[in-house]
Amino acid sequence: MYYDFVVVGGGVGGGEASVRLARFFNKPTLLISDYPLVYSRMTLSYGLKQGVKTVDPYVVYTPEDLRGEGVTFIHDRVVAVEPDRNTVILGSGRRVEYGVLVLATGSKARFLDIDGVSLKGVFTFQTFTDMLGLSSVAEPGRRALVAGTGMIGLLVSDALSARGVKVYTVDILPLPGLTAVEEPLARTILNKMKLKGVEFMGGVTVEKLKGDRRVEEAILTNGERLQVDFVVFSVGVVPNIPQGLEGLVKSREGALLTDNLFRTSRRDIYAIGDCATTMDLQTGESIYRPLGIIASYAAKLLPKAMEGVGYQGFLAYQVEEAFSVLFMRVGLNGLEARRLGVNYSYALVELKVPGVGVTRNLVVYEKGSGRLLGWQSVGGYIASYKSKVFEHMIKSGMRLEDLEEKGFKVLE
Ligand SMILES: Cc1cc2nc3c(=O)[nH]c(=O)nc-3n(C[C@H](O)[C@H](O)[C@H](O)COP(=O)(O)OP(=O)(O)OC[C@H]3O[C@@H](n4cnc5c(N)ncnc54)[C@H](O)[C@@H]3O)c2cc1C
Repeated sequence: MYYDFVVVGGGVGGGEASVRLARFFNKPTLLISDYPLVYSRMTLSYGLKQGVKTVDPYVVYTPEDLRGEGVTFIHDRVVAVEPDRNTVILGSGRRVEYGVLVLATGSKARFLDIDGVSLKGVFTFQTFTDMLGLSSVAEPGRRALVAGTGMIGLLVSDALSARGVKVYTVDILPLPGLTAVEEPLARTILNKMKLKGVEFMGGVTVEKLKGDRRVEEAILTNGERLQVDFVVFSVGVVPNIPQGLEGLVKSREGALLTDNLFRTSRRDIYAIGDCATTMDLQTGESIYRPLGIIASYAAKLLPKAMEGVGYQGFLAYQVEEAFSVLFMRVGLNGLEARRLGVNYSYALVELKVPGVGVTRNLVVYEKGSGRLLGWQSVGGYIASYKSKVFEHMIKSGMRLEDLEEKGFKVLE
């Protein structure tokens, strides 16, 4: 079996890429995925909150939709790639030859390598199946420990707490949400969590889980013991790379390193989404950003990239809603700036919005030049009022000192 384009992985990246490639090149295109349809994970936490039981609200493309777009769909797992033979091998034993291979295999949730991690009642929150599993134990009055309070940990904690579960959270970082926003806004998140009765312990992680087949107790690194009914690990993701691609160049996170045409170090293998790095718009450096918004944007740009039209880089854009507030960030945050070796600082800024009041946001800027790198807000919808304006200001290279002219008051 031969296809000009073989796309592996039917998430927001691979699903969209297969459709765009088939439309653009009108050549035989195959999508292989280990789930029977293409769905998006980005709103799974709403499903957990509301007890959704079917995949329907998340579906992006059914196999019929794909057929209508000229894409052949195979529901199977790619167990290995043989790059020297331009071949992928499926779980069923079938072999498929490709002209060009697009990897969009996403990421998998990271587990902590500790005693008791294989007990029943230990979850991650990454797939629709994970959501169903968690939903089945989210009974009022139960006690859960959520390890890791990045965006996914916050979304899960909020959803479980809304279902009446008593939620305890721990993080090795001192405050929740610090992987997305800076300290002053992370403090706001902590206050919002407390208002909903969600407990947080910073600078702490899980040392051991105990129980008789099912998890019953979590022992923390500060010596504390928590009686729990279940545990959710939301301690980051690991790029998912099929076997046989060990020779490709990878980032320190293990993601496939790609250039501004989405090419890996093998010219006939492209990679998009959570399995790959992308270029950062502001620094031109490669960065690992497992965000659906970037996966789907990359998929849309892929056909042109294959014709040699490179992209300039992506600006991070993250929006989540938990504990009745909206968290947003545009551009680099402190964590990414540190990773990229950018010397940064941050400042709070206020803007008077006529008829509404004052919004307070945070800007990340480069020390010395004052160049704006990022913008963050935590609050009601009005807090995100100027996100597009900031996006434009970041892209156009504006500096901190230019903000006063635009009506913002820089506080510190
Ligand atoms: C709860 C939650 C909330 C999120 N919220 C946001 C948000 O608000 N904004 C945002 O930008 N991002 C968000 N994300 C992240 C976003 O979902 C991911 O970045 C996005 O799904 C990545 O898309 P992808 O196509 O690279 O991979 P995925 O969507 O993970 O899809 C990969 C697919 O490939 C399949 N696959 C893997 N290996 C193989 C193989 N060997 N053979 C066949 N198939 C394979 C997988 O089963 C999967 O179906 C969220 C994620 C979660 C879990």
